[in-house]
Amino acid sequence: MKLWDYHIHSRLCRHAKGNLEEYVKAAINKNLSEIGFSEHIPYEYLPISPNIPREEYGMPEKELQYYFTEIERLQAIFKDEIVIKTGMEVDYFEWSENEVIKFLEQYRDKWDYIIGSIHMIDSPNFGIWPVDDNRYSKYSEIGVDDVYYQYIEQLASLIETGEYDILGHIDLPKKNGNRPQNTKRYYLLMENLLDKIKTKEMAVELNTAGARKPIEEYYPDKEILRIISEKKIPMIISSDAHSPMEVGYDFNNAVALLEKNDVTNLCKFTKRKKELVKLNDLI
Ligand SMILES: [Zn+2]
Ligand SMILES: [Zn+2]
Repeated sequence: MKLWDYHIHSRLCRHAKGNLEEYVKAAINKNLSEIGFSEHIPYEYLPISPNIPREEYGMPEKELQYYFTEIERLQAIFKDEIVIKTGMEVDYFEWSENEVIKFLEQYRDKWDYIIGSIHMIDSPNFGIWPVDDNRYSKYSEIGVDDVYYQYIEQLASLIETGEYDILGHIDLPKKNGNRPQNTKRYYLLMENLLDKIKTKEMAVELNTAGARKPIEEYYPDKEILRIISEKKIPMIISSDAHSPMEVGYDFNNAVALLEKNDVTNLCKFTKRKKELVKLNDLI
């Protein structure tokens, strides 16, 4: 079975290990058909806040040209062994939307896909803080359920822009173990969100990184996966690798889980065009 991994970081973002070439070699060793880089958006596009260590979260904008030319160099070297795609994981904020869209537009001939993610939320009275970094946690002050509601509201406006191809780790706030209590309301809101995703023809990740975190499960959880399957929203399986050894992490189990949940549609992206792939055709 030939799978592809589109959520890959590298040392460029300052919190991942390994250079691009090491990731490509790891993907070839794992027998993947494609690897796509999705480095974090340059930190200059992240908010300035005492709760946001920007330089640790994104690549410096001055590395961007290197990112593109290095991917082109690797595409040429490994063209007979693997397809290499160019993407980016973009943090969405309402206030910086125009600037971010201008940035994406500036390099539009480069992108195969853009992952839209939310790692930081803007909470009334607390300002902007990262929901997945324990050093800045505000779950106990705000209340776990309210954090989820604020996060989901921000996801809704991300989806509404229609600027993103893939939604990254849809239930990220659970990463360090904070689960919503009012599950009825939570899944209802998630279902509404997935309707919006369907309308905008976005894809959703089955991101295996959660299995390596305290929560020890993929993003999304099984109930959200069930709704995705019901709505026939296309998925990609991704590792969110932050070191070369994590490329294609747990993909065989991920495929088994998708089969069990009757998720049939995976997808690929080339120059921001989606191509549906039936899971059955891969097996
Ligand atoms: Zn990262
Ligand atoms: Zn992310």
